[in-house]
Amino acid sequence: MARKLVLFDIDGTLLTVNAINRSVLVDALKEVYGTAGSAGTHSFAGKMDSKIIYEVLQVAGLDRDEIAEKFEQAKTTYIEMFRTQAKPSDVLLMEGIRELLQKLSEHPELMLGLLTGNFEASGRHKLRLPEINHYFPFGAFADDAPCRNELPAVAVEKARQLTGIDFFNHDIIIIGDTEHDIACARVLNAKSIAVATGTYSREELKKHRPHVLYENLGRTDVVLSEILRSSIN
Ligand SMILES: [Mg+2]
Repeated sequence: MARKLVLFDIDGTLLTVNAINRSVLVDALKEVYGTAGSAGTHSFAGKMDSKIIYEVLQVAGLDRDEIAEKFEQAKTTYIEMFRTQAKPSDVLLMEGIRELLQKLSEHPELMLGLLTGNFEASGRHKLRLPEINHYFPFGAFADDAPCRNELPAVAVEKARQLTGIDFFNHDIIIIGDTEHDIACARVLNAKSIAVATGTYSREELKKHRPHVLYENLGRTDVVLSEILRSSIN
């Protein structure tokens, strides 16, 4: 029976997508709003896809109502473009990820899930390309809440619906590459594992005091035993 809930961020943690992610968003926003605002250069790290769309268009002078009016259309256009254009060669898995996911999946006491700012449809496509989607029976996505700090509770509720188990505190482990992932863990008093494979350096991540900090997840046996350990330090 599952004892621990392990929630993974996608971009910068499990994998990285090349420039196509940004170029598709730029094209989709131009098609729907006539401008992509600052989408060509804006920092996406750790942010919800929905929030990114608002931020980059507000730079171009659009107000919230104007953005909201066509938001669903922009989201659908982005997802459709991403799913038709992104190919397996556009996605690179981080070091050790395939091996780590396989090892974690062999432990019946662990339940894996996603906690990500991606929209579900495009996030799932990112995982399908390198064939790791099947490791994640459920997830909390940008579609599920207006801000990222609300996603941990969504993930716990979805896990409860699937397993009948209430996961609490340090039996929840959140793995991600930004301060936002660490903040999500704090919301639930969960254990945070930060990894410096995204845009944040090890030093930057350290300032946000994750429980565990790794350069990458390549030492899969070390990561696995850390996840299985009940205490936080
Ligand atoms: Mg990330």
